[in-house]
Amino acid sequence: MSEPYSQELRSDTSEIVIPVISALTIVAGLLAGVASSVRIQDSWHFWVIALLAFGGGLFSWRLVKGERARAGATFFVSLYLFLITLLLTTEWQPGSPIPYFFGVLIIISSMIYSPRAGFYTWGISIILSVIGVTIRVGGFDFLLLLRQLAAPTTINFLVALAAYLTALEWEYAVESISGLHIRVQQRRDELFAAKKELDLINAKQRFTNQQLDAARQEAIKERDLRTRFMNNVSHELRTPLNGIVNFAHILAQGGQGPVNDGQADYLDRIEKSGWHLLAVLNDLLDMAQIEAGEFKLHMELVNLHNICEDAMRGIRGLILNKPVELVRDYPDEWPFVNVDKMRLKQALINLLGNAEKYTEAGYIALRVKPEGETVRIIVEDSGIGIAPEDHEKIFREFHQVNEQDARRRIGTGLGLPITRHLVEKHGGAISVSSEVGRGTAFIITLPAAANSPSPNGQAKPNMTAVAKEAEANVPAQPAAVE
Ligand code: ADP
Repeated sequence: MSEPYSQELRSDTSEIVIPVISALTIVAGLLAGVASSVRIQDSWHFWVIALLAFGGGLFSWRLVKGERARAGATFFVSLYLFLITLLLTTEWQPGSPIPYFFGVLIIISSMIYSPRAGFYTWGISIILSVIGVTIRVGGFDFLLLLRQLAAPTTINFLVALAAYLTALEWEYAVESISGLHIRVQQRRDELFAAKKELDLINAKQRFTNQQLDAARQEAIKERDLRTRFMNNVSHELRTPLNGIVNFAHILAQGGQGPVNDGQADYLDRIEKSGWHLLAVLNDLLDMAQIEAGEFKLHMELVNLHNICEDAMRGIRGLILNKPVELVRDYPDEWPFVNVDKMRLKQALINLLGNAEKYTEAGYIALRVKPEGETVRIIVEDSGIGIAPEDHEKIFREFHQVNEQDARRRIGTGLGLPITRHLVEKHGGAISVSSEVGRGTAFIITLPAAANSPSPNGQAKPNMTAVAKEAEANVPAQPAAVE
């Protein structure tokens, strides 16, 4: 993988080295030609060298440029082997530096061809030196050759060795850099790919967000429409219903003349049904407000006792004809709570009303347990109970455990969802604990107000006037049964 890269760099080096060496040779050849003699038979080889350096250099350079770097380098080195040999055959004499010229060629060949090429050039240069000198002296003289060529051959070998080691080191460095470079490129490509993917995801997310926004706007529009519709309908229904309930009551009381027992009974039923319808309407309206997020509380610091008693009063009339005891399990010290008293009372009436609906005999208890920073309100009955699998479902809108049974008892399935919302809006929680056939307990946990009365019954200095007044009205009550 890195070899082509170092080869690429070698070809870049060739592009510089070939013209430089060629130019130097041309200049040297021309100068030597001019300087040596005016007679052409004495200086022809210099002109030939200059000419070949020009033509051969140009040819090698074109090969390198034409993506044939190795062929160019081979041709160039071969050409110079020939030129130096030509110089040997024409100019050599004992002590001549010409054999050392091979040293330069050795360095160039290991630079532009391969690290090992220096040794090949060196080997060939020995043969060519022997041939060149032999031609020059006109016969093979072993001793002369040994004396004259031993030193340049040895030095040229050392040059080849040094060039080899340097070129190797250079190649190693290039390979490492090339590896790093490739890794960087891969990393960059990965980053680009990741960025592209991210862009795509972002675009998708933008599109999804737009769709979500559109859907949300649509839902808000629909919700507003529904709320408006519910408000209008309940207003339109409530006015005549109030009329029906009130007029039935007046008629039953003999307000428009005497009525017989049968008529009074019917009027009473009309009134009861009217009240029930009004309760259902109120539930629907509350639910619509909750869904529209328009449900508001009017918080104030109140004593819990008053709220519990108001709720219990509401339930008392309903159990008159049943063998059901109403149990109050109240604390000695009543806690204060920061609540919307109408809404908390509504929640308790919902639970007590359910207890009454689903309890034919036994008891209905309201237990209040202050526990430090919280207060627990438990509405407990000994009625039909709720199966474990329904404990969560009953808090969902319109869910009735046994629909036929529930219909017989009349209900909308909205009481508990509204109660849960009311409690949670107060920062509290509601849970259920029940066993089929043994009864049910709904447990409300509310935060107690920070400035409740102190244990000795004295209001803390920062109590509000409302709290003080409420505290004054609190009777300390033990568990009582009606
Ligand atoms: P509903 O108007 O039907 O009473 P709720 O939301 O108040 O609607 O109650 C949902 C269902 O939970 C009821 O239909 C009933 O099956 C069950 N439920 C609620 N309270 C009690 C209870 N005290 N005892 C037994 N079942 C109960």
